[in-house]
Amino acid sequence: MQIFTERRSLDLWVAQIKTERKSLGFVPTMGALHAGHISLIQASRAQNDYTICSVFVNPTQFDNAEDLEKYPRNMQEDTKILKDAGCDAVFFPSVTDMYPEGAKSEKFNFRGIEKQMEGRYRKGHFDGVATIVSRFFEIILPDRAYFGQKDFQQLRIIQELVVQRGYPIEIVPMPIFREKSGLAMSSRNARLSEKYLKEASKIFKILNMIKDWRNQYSVTETIHLAEDQFRNTDLKLEYLILADEKKLKPIQSWDEASDIRAFVAVFADNIRLIDNLKII
Ligand code: AMP
Repeated sequence: MQIFTERRSLDLWVAQIKTERKSLGFVPTMGALHAGHISLIQASRAQNDYTICSVFVNPTQFDNAEDLEKYPRNMQEDTKILKDAGCDAVFFPSVTDMYPEGAKSEKFNFRGIEKQMEGRYRKGHFDGVATIVSRFFEIILPDRAYFGQKDFQQLRIIQELVVQRGYPIEIVPMPIFREKSGLAMSSRNARLSEKYLKEASKIFKILNMIKDWRNQYSVTETIHLAEDQFRNTDLKLEYLILADEKKLKPIQSWDEASDIRAFVAVFADNIRLIDNLKII
């Protein structure tokens, strides 16, 4: 596996692949890799001649200094995991590589998608995400890029970004990988104590209850019932929204959209977790 820690050698590798007219799949990550990330790598390997993964904890998408500082980082372990997964290359850029003019985001307009949920509760988050992903796309020039539905709103933003900028890149959405307990895999789970790991597994159970309730209850009743369930846990609910998959706007009735998802953000002992489930 090729390990790139600076741009110049990566540029040469990319140029070689382009000369050979081979296809390149790209998996952007923030590291502390788990089976969810590896499922994206495997999908890319199956569909492309070469696969590259980036590992970069992007400072501009954090609105919370403690979250950024405590975000798990492990370059050696990540390298080993990627090698074992058969990844062809990994890019570990420095902050100055990605932000030569200082760690600032560009401003984006995604027709309102960026204003809901994560955009509302994490100020500037999606400007940071779109800035870094567009920079990676312009350096790596992938044919396909893989994004998990775990971060569903991010996936929608990237789909819009590709249309807005006219990038010739296919965005491939990937299903959420879960622990046996149902907890969505996340690098942040490594920070949870045993007690909170157990509490956090209730998120998926409540999301599934929503799916059952939708046959008997209105949207408002369903949200109230789910909020009650969260009150019976040690999780602090930040938001619980039923939204249309395209615009990500909260719905008021079940027949408002053909594809509806439940989205949730909670704090488990000050560690912020998100999850979602397709309801219709
Ligand atoms: P992250 O390192 O958390 O920024 O995630 C990098 C990519 O992996 C994003 O596209 C995520 O949506 C995806 N991802 C993270 N966790 C999971 C999971 N449990 N299942 C599927 N994809 C995931």
